[in-house]
Amino acid sequence: MKETNKTFLWEEMTWPELEAYLKTVDTVILPCGAIEQHGPHLPVDVDYYDAKYMAYKVAEACQEPKPLVIPPIPFGVSYHHDDFKGTLSVSNDALSRFVYDLGMSLAKNGIKKIIILNGHGDNAPTLNYAAQMINRDAKIFVCVDTGETSDVDLYKLIDTPNDIHAGEIETSTTLALRPEMVQMDKAVNATLKFGSKFLDYDDERGVSWYVRTNKISESGVMGDATKATVEKGEKMWELMIHHMVNLVESIKNTPLDDLYQKRY
Ligand SMILES: [Zn+2]
Repeated sequence: MKETNKTFLWEEMTWPELEAYLKTVDTVILPCGAIEQHGPHLPVDVDYYDAKYMAYKVAEACQEPKPLVIPPIPFGVSYHHDDFKGTLSVSNDALSRFVYDLGMSLAKNGIKKIIILNGHGDNAPTLNYAAQMINRDAKIFVCVDTGETSDVDLYKLIDTPNDIHAGEIETSTTLALRPEMVQMDKAVNATLKFGSKFLDYDDERGVSWYVRTNKISESGVMGDATKATVEKGEKMWELMIHHMVNLVESIKNTPLDDLYQKRY
């Protein structure tokens, strides 16, 4: 008899159980993280831990039949943090190829919709590319959420501009889940200001651009970690999970053809 209440975990089922489950649900969540420096005050696993935590919480909060969740990918595209120890990066090519192969394999199992839950911003171009190729070749639905469903709400909760890495947001969300892992006495304010407003990460007209972290931050922090609180973190998790559940439910409960056609 299984002890776990996580009935949606792909890896804990036998093949006949998966065969039966796949007759009831055609949607999978694929969490993807990173192992990279998160300033002097947070562990290097934040993006991995958070993506996994969120995938489980979202699946738990979904209606039956719950979406399947596959094991998270721990490593991501983090070369820009290479100047800080502890960062373990894989190339864009390796990650996109890995996710592509996984997507094709999921499609062979009968999965029709893949929701990639991305915990690390700089994985986004690579995961989007992989999603596009899976759709091209397997003709299934694939989307990537790198915070699009909730970022707008999170920015309303904080005062720090360009708070994108190990700052007010990520320190708050870690304080809410694992306070023992946060060394607040080492938290710094490293608020970023750029020479053009089009570089601002939270500007709705901002462009995508790339830089090595040590060029713009000595500590590795991009944002203001000193403003982080447990209360903010709890509110952020509530919002992120709520909006992600809405995304998953709306995709899971709609047949593939209707997804592209239905007018709501
Ligand atoms: Zn992070």
